[in-house]
Amino acid sequence: MLDRLEPQSPDALLALIKLHAADPRGDKIDLGVGVYRTEEGATPVFAAIKAAEQRLVEEQDSKSYLGPEGDTGFVNALMPWIFGEDATMGGRIAGMQTPGGTGAVRLAAALAQKAGMTRLYMGVPSWPNHAQIFADLELEAVPFDHANADGTADLDAVLRAIRAASPDEGVLLHGCCHNPTGIDYRPQEWERIAEAFEASGAFPIIDIAYQGLGRGLEEDASGLRKVLSKVPEAFIAYSCDKNFGMYRDRVGAFYILCDGTEMLDKAFSNANALARASWSMPPDHGAAAVRLILRDNELTQMWQDELDEMRARMRQVRDRLAEAGMAGSVDLAPLAAQNGLFSMLPVTKEQVVKLREEHAIYMAGSGRINVAGLTTGNIDRFIDALAAVTG
Ligand code: PMP
Repeated sequence: MLDRLEPQSPDALLALIKLHAADPRGDKIDLGVGVYRTEEGATPVFAAIKAAEQRLVEEQDSKSYLGPEGDTGFVNALMPWIFGEDATMGGRIAGMQTPGGTGAVRLAAALAQKAGMTRLYMGVPSWPNHAQIFADLELEAVPFDHANADGTADLDAVLRAIRAASPDEGVLLHGCCHNPTGIDYRPQEWERIAEAFEASGAFPIIDIAYQGLGRGLEEDASGLRKVLSKVPEAFIAYSCDKNFGMYRDRVGAFYILCDGTEMLDKAFSNANALARASWSMPPDHGAAAVRLILRDNELTQMWQDELDEMRARMRQVRDRLAEAGMAGSVDLAPLAAQNGLFSMLPVTKEQVVKLREEHAIYMAGSGRINVAGLTTGNIDRFIDALAAVTG
């Protein structure tokens, strides 16, 4: 039976990790994998997480089953950070824990499909797994251009998509720190997007995987809040894997906004059933640690300080790149206005290969770079190599 299966190509980024690991050159630079790195090139466990984990070891008295909704204390503690002071928008939002942001996106897509959605609009390029998840569920993803060539968002394209979508069609948006371009909508643009949703009735699906890594915790959630304030229904997929540094612990949440309690209960019960049939229950450990942090003022402050430091470092790298201006044919100036871990450089696949082979610089074939892979020690070498390869 298994002979009928077609072999699948390995994930390109995971293959890049292996290539990088096998490269003996001492000055190699990894701009591929999407994790934060310190000035020393490390991806350490947050001190706030270490402290929360210590508490868990001492205080956790059972590992008995929870339910498909996971740690509801975690789900609720996160809500004011995402949705603001009126965290449930008057009882209109409910959520559940998921295995990472990926689990949340998967659940959003599966629940949309169960409710009758057959098609959604999606800005491209996007996180590659979006398209894979939708294809796996046989949800048609209609692409629109996310960005203009000058490094700004293509507002007209997203507005056109929202206007074209009917109420049982979705439009997928990144809440902040767009992956892979780093190009986010500005506050006035979110305003227009929210109004377009209100006018068209299209169903918003908002994926927010980097809150706090762009402009700040509040700023990064403000676009999403604008949209939610104008629509009767929406899905939100959330990841704590970057902003708490929990990557492999798989910490995420899925939230549903509905028009009334009865509808919310009905939608939630369906999400619950889908989660039960998919992973039964999400892994507990990381979410429990996040709950402990968010329920303790001291740990919350510690976490925010660590997040502030990460954001400031990435801003420094972006400013230094932008200062360089042109590197060969690549204009680095737009990177200063972009957010988060990623930006896309207009380089060809051949130039990406040349950077890797001749300069030991590793980046995705698409030209996406992880700016956190750059440090004061390697950034000038990177700029020079980019100039040499594209000049
Ligand atoms: N959405 C986007 C836009 C992402 O970039 C990512 C992570 N690369 C995710 C969701 C999934 O995150 P997680 O690792 O929590 O599954």
